[in-house]
Amino acid sequence: MPLVTLTQGHLKLLELCPRRLQYTHLDQLAAPEDPEMLERQRWGTRFHLAMQQRELGLPLEPLLAQDPELATAIQALAEQSPDWFGLESNPTEPEVLRQSEHRRSLAWGSYELTVVYDLLRLTPHSGHIIDWKTYRQRPKKSQLTQDWQTRLYLYVLVETTDLDPAQLSMTYWFVPPPSAGKPKAVDRPGAVTLAYSLNKHRHTARDLRRLTRYLDDLLAAKNFPKVDTALGHCLRCPFALRCQRAARPADPLLSPIPTIDTIDEIPI
Ligand code: SF4
Repeated sequence: MPLVTLTQGHLKLLELCPRRLQYTHLDQLAAPEDPEMLERQRWGTRFHLAMQQRELGLPLEPLLAQDPELATAIQALAEQSPDWFGLESNPTEPEVLRQSEHRRSLAWGSYELTVVYDLLRLTPHSGHIIDWKTYRQRPKKSQLTQDWQTRLYLYVLVETTDLDPAQLSMTYWFVPPPSAGKPKAVDRPGAVTLAYSLNKHRHTARDLRRLTRYLDDLLAAKNFPKVDTALGHCLRCPFALRCQRAARPADPLLSPIPTIDTIDEIPI
């Protein structure tokens, strides 16, 4: 099956392990399911739905009445950020576009770079991407800056608008599910905002060229190599048995801090 649409998830896997990209996106093999991961994904889906509903101007109360956990998290958010994350419209800089689950594509050789923004706000002079993350571990700012989600999302926005890189920013809001019992500090929502620049834009363009050429070669050769075991990625890979890199299924708890690319992102 040809790989035409390229998302941030594809790029991450291509860098992490080409064989894993082959298994998941070309061979479409289902990875063994991790119950904890599924639970995190369910929480992510519920929270994203609530945010979409709010953007559509629909009342949240009926949703929250059926979901006390979600109600607790939304209340914590509202207490921490009464202006709803500073996302209320600014009358001095009217928004020309504001949309949740906004999808964009950019032709790139024989591929189509594709992004889906949780929330996109455009004014004549600025672009702001908001992404909800619903897990507890917060990556460092440097990790978020390097992450393909950040890089691709900002890159595509520059290339599909008249805005300059310096006019763009991306904010990750971290909203974990409430802990059972007494609220803990780790339950508190928090945000990280990343600025963009022409240098970063050029750097991403170079890396995109490098990676897509590499993907061209892999597809032509029909050979997606396994990653070097010394890098440790096989330890928690669901395909470790298949690759003969483990004698039993990988334990998702082996790595105490999951990487940003492996947790509760809603696939596009
Ligand atoms: S087990 Fe290792 S080589 Fe095999 S797909 Fe997973 S990360 Fe790649």
